[in-house]
Amino acid sequence: MKIKLDIKSNAVDSFNEALVKFESAQNGDVKAYKFTILHLSHAIELVLKMYLQTLDENLVFSKCYQKVKQRASAKKIDLLAAFHELEAEEFDFESVIDGHDNPFTVIVSDVLAIAKNEKCGVTGNTFVDQDFIDDINWMKGIRNAIEHFQVEFTAKEVRLCIGRLVQGLGEFSDVFSLLSLEKEVGKENYEIFKVLVDEYEQSLEEAHMDIREAKEALFRGTRPKHQMFIEWNEYLCDSCGNETMIPNDDSSTGYKCTYCDNEESGQIEVDCDVCSLPWANEDMSYWDENLVNVCPRCVNPEAW
Ligand SMILES: [Zn+2]
Ligand SMILES: [Zn+2]
Repeated sequence: MKIKLDIKSNAVDSFNEALVKFESAQNGDVKAYKFTILHLSHAIELVLKMYLQTLDENLVFSKCYQKVKQRASAKKIDLLAAFHELEAEEFDFESVIDGHDNPFTVIVSDVLAIAKNEKCGVTGNTFVDQDFIDDINWMKGIRNAIEHFQVEFTAKEVRLCIGRLVQGLGEFSDVFSLLSLEKEVGKENYEIFKVLVDEYEQSLEEAHMDIREAKEALFRGTRPKHQMFIEWNEYLCDSCGNETMIPNDDSSTGYKCTYCDNEESGQIEVDCDVCSLPWANEDMSYWDENLVNVCPRCVNPEAW
């Protein structure tokens, strides 16, 4: 029982620490991504071990796990089925590690090899997504090559993967009733957690990051004297409803949404064919083929 409690509180501590580092990384300290990954991978490892403990308290120890593995290969059944067989025979896992003071524990891939066989009793679908497993493997790879990771991956790729891992970890914890990340996460980290755990919120946050980066790049590339001539607008996207339409040279309208790539917005300004003043295109009236865009002022001068 003692080990169980330690694993849980260590998992929560590591998870919170990962969120703290993620926030510093987002605020510009790019090196903090690597610590985010280290802490997050530790949290994931511990939560996976908590899952093993729901099967049997001692299954986190390699020697006990080996017994399951031996049964699986002897009977040519999957690891979970092998465990359930041993359990039904009241196999004494405790005795396997008796007398060992500090037995080795299993590694992440061992846990996943068992967990991936867990199926929903109703639908028959597996609980553990292959994508989650792939992301964990990606993370292990990046962790091992952590010194080089900035060369190989963009910050955005790293952020998106961290988001998917947090989402995957949240689902895994829920499905096996291990812990509620939402409840355990510290108050000061809650906002950052909310964004990461929600796929939509995270993509939206990414869209806003793209806007900041595009704007910075544009101003950086323009001499201070000329910056006043930059036409920078952020418009409401007609398609996704976010204020994420920004100038884009490749777009036919001159604007593109960083969230959904749509190029249309009623707020994009066009020049009035009568008075030549710019207005939002959604406010324009069509008179005839020569007066395609007529502004409200020219349509109804008395009202102004
Ligand atoms: Zn959009
Ligand atoms: Zn006009």
